[in-house]
Amino acid sequence: MDQIRVRFPPSPTGPMHIGTARTLLVNFLFARGHSGKIVFRSEDTDRERSTKEFEQELFDGIKWLGLDFDEGPFRQSERDEIYEKYFEQLKTAGKIYPCFCTPEDLEAERKLQNEQKLPPRYSGKCRELSPTDVKKMESDGRKPVWRFRVPDEEIKFTDLVRGEISERGENIADFVIRKSDGQFLYHFTVVVDDAEMQISHVIRGEDHISNTSKHILIFEALGTLVPQFAHLPLLLNKDRSKMSKRDESGKPATIDRLKADGYLPEAVVNFLALLGWNPGSGSEQEFFSLDELTKKFDFSGVAKAGAVFDLERLNFFNAHYLRELTEAELVEKIKPFLKFEVDDKARLAKAVKLASERMKFLGEANSFLHYFFGEIDPPLELFENPKMKVDRAKSIEALEQSLPILEQIQDWDSAEIQKNLLALVEKLGWKNGQLLWPLRAALTGEKFSPGVWEMADVLGREESLQRIRKALDKLKK
Ligand code: GLU
Repeated sequence: MDQIRVRFPPSPTGPMHIGTARTLLVNFLFARGHSGKIVFRSEDTDRERSTKEFEQELFDGIKWLGLDFDEGPFRQSERDEIYEKYFEQLKTAGKIYPCFCTPEDLEAERKLQNEQKLPPRYSGKCRELSPTDVKKMESDGRKPVWRFRVPDEEIKFTDLVRGEISERGENIADFVIRKSDGQFLYHFTVVVDDAEMQISHVIRGEDHISNTSKHILIFEALGTLVPQFAHLPLLLNKDRSKMSKRDESGKPATIDRLKADGYLPEAVVNFLALLGWNPGSGSEQEFFSLDELTKKFDFSGVAKAGAVFDLERLNFFNAHYLRELTEAELVEKIKPFLKFEVDDKARLAKAVKLASERMKFLGEANSFLHYFFGEIDPPLELFENPKMKVDRAKSIEALEQSLPILEQIQDWDSAEIQKNLLALVEKLGWKNGQLLWPLRAALTGEKFSPGVWEMADVLGREESLQRIRKALDKLKK
């Protein structure tokens, strides 16, 4: 195979979408797996919505995911001279023509087609304007759009994911490649750039399949090599609707948001790669590093059906990669997410260890860890739980019974605390919850937490006893 060359062509008009990241990832895997080159091209022709900040966010996202590129950044907004040259070439060859139809003309045409139950599209009215007609319109001060003259022929290509695809030219209306204000449009700029940058493989989302015939026509009109195409299945929500701005949790479906929620890039990459791709029959492997993915990725493993973006599955991958970290690494990664002061580093390490068994993403660390630090003030209602047969009086009794038992423990650790508390439950003839519910409330101020003895172990002897005494005082007031 000749040199593989792919492109990263995002539009810097918003934060990096998860679907964009997935497309870039697949481009990266394919290129790196075949010693290919990657060109970054900012498709910023939408001048109003494109910003430098969004472009920077794309670079940051690429870096965060562990991806990179070899050439660029190129910006479409800085390439008008190049487009002009190719435009002239098409003009000279008669592949495009000026169209002077006004929006009103087009609307009238559409209305007529509607009445005749014909599909609405440009009729080709200005196709055969004579040079004299054109001169006349121009001297009237009218500025044309430029349309591509779609030939009446079958356009065929073999998509690396979807196989043979064909479309008849007569079903494609002559489309606009340049606006009357001179601006070049997407179908034209994307093809000129892919031709200029000698792109061998165009790998993009399935939503671009319907553009591909138009692109092939332009490549052919320019007389340049037509690249190979691979269209990736769309990302879907769980209800199989197209995933757009938000995911099933209602949060923005962006890389920024995954980063802010505390997902690890390794997990995101692993998860995204498996959206609509599998490494082939017989393989049960789920966890892949970027390196492994690069070696294994192949279009034969890409599914045609849409790929469901399932947050739970992402959580599963993230939990796996969190557990791969050493305790010290995990503490370091958690720190930026904490919204409270940590006065005791050793306690933080122990608390993180305890929380890590349940943590799916780092953003959860706050809710799992906050009650280990600073003062807590459990509300009185927390000491009432009819289901557990616990009320305020019973809570007082539970804490009063527990205090002397806990005070006499010398080797303060989880197992020792557990043994003593369970012995007390047995002696009192209570249910476990009747003793443990009030203790949990006193120690954490929460309804849910890890086991009481594990919590007490992390808090340490003094802090645990003090929290129980404080709760007792409040209950007795
Ligand atoms: N800028 C286009 C997009 O973000 C790229 C389309 C293409 O890959 O051709 O959808």
